[in-house]
Amino acid sequence: TCDTQKRLRIAIQKSGRLTDDTEKLFKNCGIKINESRDHLLAHAENLPIDILRVRDDDIPGLVMDHVVDWGIVGQNVLEETTMQREVDGLPVAYKEVMKLNYGDCRLSVAVPNEMEYKSLKDLEGFKIATTYPFLLKRKLKEMGVSFKSVLLTGSVEVAPRAGLADAICDLVCTGATLHANGLKEVDVIYESKAVLIGRDQELFPEKQAIADLIIPRLKGVMAARE
Ligand code: ATP
Ligand code: ZN
Repeated sequence: TCDTQKRLRIAIQKSGRLTDDTEKLFKNCGIKINESRDHLLAHAENLPIDILRVRDDDIPGLVMDHVVDWGIVGQNVLEETTMQREVDGLPVAYKEVMKLNYGDCRLSVAVPNEMEYKSLKDLEGFKIATTYPFLLKRKLKEMGVSFKSVLLTGSVEVAPRAGLADAICDLVCTGATLHANGLKEVDVIYESKAVLIGRDQELFPEKQAIADLIIPRLKGVMAARE
């Protein structure tokens, strides 16, 4: 329809660690969204932009499947999803529009406090609980370490205590959660921040015009916050 050709469609996290910063960024760029967070689709009042609120895990696929024009997601989720989609034979093309100045976190290996740890080589033969098996495998393969991943999408940090795994590989910000579970952070596998990605395809001219208007505003707002 006319509408999908003329309104720039952006997927953002519905509710989570990227949501507040993303909404603040849009607001500071003059994109007015009044609909509440329970609306899957919100229309900007003053610009031809539609916001799609979804789980962060779905964002790379929505861009790669050309369902939305842009998406904001952590690089961790973007890279993990890309590797999974490659295995599944799904399209993986996208372009990075710009890196954003929020959503910083690291994907780290943590082991029980009492374990003596020197390097990633000490993980040889381990069972490691993680939400990011592909990122973990990429790194450990590089180091020549073989391991078995235990896929958990939540409560990763309780896996060792529960006897499900010998170590974990999880997102860390302060380390408080690890500490509370008798774990210590021993190595960083991947450092991540939020990125704005777009479909790898020319936009309709009307949409390109909106993109050309918004990109300098986004850059301006981020520069002002540095
Ligand atoms: P959803 O319900 O959308 O699937 P989620 O629970 O998978 O949410 P969040 O915990 O909200 O995801 O994190 C979203 C993203 O925010 C992470 O993938 C990561 O890129 C980033 N992030 C920033 N800081 C942190 C942090 N301290 N801990 C975890 N993730 C963080
Ligand atoms: Zn998620």
